[in-house]
Amino acid sequence: MDSLSRISSGLGEPLYADECTMKVDRISYAQVLIEMDVARELPKNLKVEDPNGRMFEQAVQYEWVPEYCAECMQDGQASWVVQKILKAVKHLQEASFTEANMESMEKYNVSRVYLQIRGRMEKVGWRSLAWKNVGSPKWLFILYLAVMGRLATKDRLAKWGIVQIQTCHLCQQENEDHDHLFFKCSYAAEVWTSILKWKGINKNTKNWMEEIQWASKCMKGQNGKTMVYKMALENTVYCIWLECNARIFQQKKTTSSILVKHIIQEIHGRGSRYAKVATRLDDLNNYP
Ligand SMILES: [Zn+2]
Repeated sequence: MDSLSRISSGLGEPLYADECTMKVDRISYAQVLIEMDVARELPKNLKVEDPNGRMFEQAVQYEWVPEYCAECMQDGQASWVVQKILKAVKHLQEASFTEANMESMEKYNVSRVYLQIRGRMEKVGWRSLAWKNVGSPKWLFILYLAVMGRLATKDRLAKWGIVQIQTCHLCQQENEDHDHLFFKCSYAAEVWTSILKWKGINKNTKNWMEEIQWASKCMKGQNGKTMVYKMALENTVYCIWLECNARIFQQKKTTSSILVKHIIQEIHGRGSRYAKVATRLDDLNNYP
């Protein structure tokens, strides 16, 4: 009985032994309930000293091991729900939510928790160009990269040591960077000026960030005119970027007047699905 007590204590906190075990009614079998920390590795054997001072090793077998233990968590074997709960607790702690915070919340507010986990971010000035934009996601993606200055233009490739010659493939005159490509480049300027003319806007082409700022400031709301403008800007950026790549990788050239027609056709094709845009496009059923 004394050895059994030592074995039990070595494994964890002994809670209960049944009557047969306590009275040593059974010689070959003992049953003890032990509280153990399952988040730690469970021992497979235990060194025990008997009342006569002799050491012996006792093998430990477990009839059942809960899935939530340190080893299982690493192997991804813990149940999906337990893993999700533990991750959620971790995220909430990172966002400075304590248990007391959560309990004091009268009504669980998903947006508040999400914003606190994500952190407050400054709103970008060009968000109105992306908001309620019915253009193709791939157009918007390239516009986003262009605004962030993340397209692989030649100035950036030169910085990474990938190219030495930075001359623009569209005009063959100046070095290529974001500001040149959209729309200082003579080819890109022809395209953009024609697109502006098609929309009935008479203004000189500005540099890239000024164009974005002008569009963000003047093209707000969800009327047909604004929506067509936003589609035209993003599709023009997308098509100029594609034209640039076609010249480099496929040795294909499209003239600026053909590219303008292609941009207008794509805007008509996609915009006709949306009532407000379709109404505006009825007035723009021509080429500049
Ligand atoms: Zn150029």
